[in-house]
Amino acid sequence: MNVPFFELGRLVKEQESEISEAIIRVVKSGWYILGKECSTFENQLKNSLHAKNSTSIVGCNSGTDAITLALLTAKIGKGDEVIAPSQTAVPTISAIVATGATPVLVDIDPNHWVIDVEKIKAALSPSTRAVIAVHLYGNMADISALRRMLDQQKRDDIQLIEDVAQAHGASWEGSQAGTLGDFGTFSFYPSKNIGALGDGGALATTRSEDTEIAKMLRFYGQKSRYDARIPHGINSRLDEIQAAVLSVRLNKLEEWNNRKNSQMKIYAEAFSSLPIKMQKVHASCKPAWHLAVIKLENQQTRDALKNHLEMQKVETMIHYPIPNHLQTAFDRVKKMPCPITEELASCILSLPMNAGLRDTEQHHVIQSVRNFFGK
Ligand SMILES: *Cc1c(COP(=O)(O)O)cnc(C)c1O
Repeated sequence: MNVPFFELGRLVKEQESEISEAIIRVVKSGWYILGKECSTFENQLKNSLHAKNSTSIVGCNSGTDAITLALLTAKIGKGDEVIAPSQTAVPTISAIVATGATPVLVDIDPNHWVIDVEKIKAALSPSTRAVIAVHLYGNMADISALRRMLDQQKRDDIQLIEDVAQAHGASWEGSQAGTLGDFGTFSFYPSKNIGALGDGGALATTRSEDTEIAKMLRFYGQKSRYDARIPHGINSRLDEIQAAVLSVRLNKLEEWNNRKNSQMKIYAEAFSSLPIKMQKVHASCKPAWHLAVIKLENQQTRDALKNHLEMQKVETMIHYPIPNHLQTAFDRVKKMPCPITEELASCILSLPMNAGLRDTEQHHVIQSVRNFFGK
């Protein structure tokens, strides 16, 4: 049996006719940018988040742009510092650099593998203007503890941004990821919790005044056509075809997340007696798993298991092999010591886990892992 890491086409098959209809509807409409498909999807996403505050959604071109737009909306740029975990996808950091602000990379907590509030506290400086909490692999960072710490430090000048790219549908004490910070940033990269058939992203703003600014920023800084109000506007829209496709796919989010959460439970039970660690989940968090990441005892075991699985035709990946604080691109950014992030990079392995994965395939993955340990 051949187990692919993620075969995107399987999920498209589940909605093939609806997706085709949506695309043809846009093609025939004669309107392709910032039209009714985009605003329909923005409203649909907003409603699905059941926010208690005045959260609204601004569709944009990607998850990376959503982070950049959040920072630009908050007027963050050159001379400002933005704290983020080193343990995240590269775009979390490049989005900060794109604004001219300086990323400050910090380590994660050894059990949950998300931001460690104490380490953020230690990295605060008078120039700190934002903290990006990354909900890694579908597991949420402790937003309440982070907010409490910032309140105690009397830092209401610091914006809290949730990077929800990997955790769309997760919740914290019943509130959806992306509605708890000042901003939430979503990615619809094809393999994310809901994927476009190309690039797409969205920014959740929790203050109504920010919504208007973000909408201008994504539209060259214009308030309306030919009326420019902001000098550093960009071009970042969620196009009509992607928005129409995403409206169809959003209907599947909960079902797909449930399937993946069950797969994670099955992995956790199957590996409980093996020398394998998995991400701990805070009692307040209901995760929306995006990646099944296991941690082995050391790099040698990880590499050997990866090879063994390859022989068994099980495709695996590493998220991420080079921590951001060690990337040559970020040579000059500010960084705190990140030993836990470095240890993860050398000991973790991502197993196939997605809404298109078949039970027989997951069984083969589990048997292959057990064989490796002689069980
Ligand atoms: C995918 C991802 C992004 C970037 O999203 P794009 O839509 O690919 O630009 C940002 N942050 C995290 C944590 C991601 O996983």
